[in-house]
Amino acid sequence: MKQIIPLEINFTYQDSRRRIYPVLLTNKDEVILVDCGYPGFLPLIKEEAEKNDIDLNNLSTIVITHHDYDHMGALAEIKEEYPKVTIASSLLDEKYISGKEKSLRLQQAEALYDTLPFEKRAHAEWFQNTLKSLRTAKVDLKLNDHDIMPWAGGTEIIATPGHMPGHISLYIKNYKTLIAGDALVIEEGKLAIANPNYTLDISEAKRSVKKLLDYEIQRIICYHGGEFNKNIRDSLLEVIKEA
Ligand SMILES: [Zn+2]
Repeated sequence: MKQIIPLEINFTYQDSRRRIYPVLLTNKDEVILVDCGYPGFLPLIKEEAEKNDIDLNNLSTIVITHHDYDHMGALAEIKEEYPKVTIASSLLDEKYISGKEKSLRLQQAEALYDTLPFEKRAHAEWFQNTLKSLRTAKVDLKLNDHDIMPWAGGTEIIATPGHMPGHISLYIKNYKTLIAGDALVIEEGKLAIANPNYTLDISEAKRSVKKLLDYEIQRIICYHGGEFNKNIRDSLLEVIKEA
């Protein structure tokens, strides 16, 4: 059985067609989901999992790479449907995912609001309200940099701060595969740093990409963009170099 299964989730959001890639990891009878889409996405995830012969009743763990709306949106509803699921995140992101502290994305949006021209304020208010409506969930397992989990035969947690300070990526050793979350995205066929407007610390994000050079990577799965598997090393160097 395949141990790494990227799920291609197609949907319409704010009138545009979009696509994200949560990933399933398997281990004997256990299924691990990495990131879970927007609120209401459980049926879409279930459907894609079934296409890949995966029964979500075997879901044991959900890993959240960082507490953005599109990565943890469906977390509370999945926990309700599968109460035994363990929720895992970085130690740094735990307080935001569990709702103990105000989301960094919301803090950013609130801080920017006063600088916005009048015509952009309605959208900004909508965005803030959307973030405020995000349902939180208790984190059961706090992950640290370089922790090794048994998922897919051995998965290393890599702290990749930048987009958000608590962002993590996952390296699956047997398959030389990196699940990048939003540490990297694919834009026009190339690897890139995620939208700078939403990357809280760009230089830190680049340092995180530099850190990835220490790993032998043959395949990168980006949440936005999907699979990337050509000239990985050169592509990573390119991302670090870009101004
Ligand atoms: Zn994000």
